[in-house]
Amino acid sequence: METTSSTETSVINLFIVEDYHLTRMGLMAVLSEFPQVKFIGEAESAEEALNKLANVSPDILLLDLGLPGMNGIEMAQEVRQRWPEIKIIILTSHNEEQEVIAALGAGAQAYVLKDVKPERLVHVIETVQDGAVWLDPAIASMVLTLVNDPGSIALQKRQANAEANPESELTDRELEVLQLIVAGRSNPEIAEQLCISIHTAKAHVGSILNKLCVNDRVQAAIKALKENIV
Ligand code: CA
Repeated sequence: METTSSTETSVINLFIVEDYHLTRMGLMAVLSEFPQVKFIGEAESAEEALNKLANVSPDILLLDLGLPGMNGIEMAQEVRQRWPEIKIIILTSHNEEQEVIAALGAGAQAYVLKDVKPERLVHVIETVQDGAVWLDPAIASMVLTLVNDPGSIALQKRQANAEANPESELTDRELEVLQLIVAGRSNPEIAEQLCISIHTAKAHVGSILNKLCVNDRVQAAIKALKENIV
């Protein structure tokens, strides 16, 4: 992945999967005000979406978590397998806390609450299109609350994990980089903030992924939050 600076303005093609008609229509109407994005498809179930995705190629999928039939988590996993080039933004509401936590491992690039301001959502879409990840601060704090709760399942799992197989230690520098990954920073941004070269930033990210045994920076961010590493 190279630098994220793109001066040319190409429209980002979107596909939305949301079972609630009004929410779907509302999002499409609101986002139609922004020339940098365009909807090329919609579906009210994962099954319908998977059929349609055989014929359209969106850049980004806006994916509701709570769907009838196949749910958003299963859909995200399916899309990742079949069309790994499609980026996924999970849309969720406050009252789906358990689902959100479960979804953090599903492989999406961003997790957004449905009450997000349109401008913010468009910013997240552009961020994801540029190859970065984004976690709604409300969701991040939801995860942190959960891992900080001594009785929480996440924490118990973390402790069991630590005892069973202690992780390779991250260096102080790698911890700094990991914090920036969690904050959704791209490699060039990490390089700039830490006054290091992009090459060095990439090397740190690679080493972090290795030590955390994850495949990409989203998974690294999720693991960092879930296991209270940063
Ligand atoms: Ca729903």
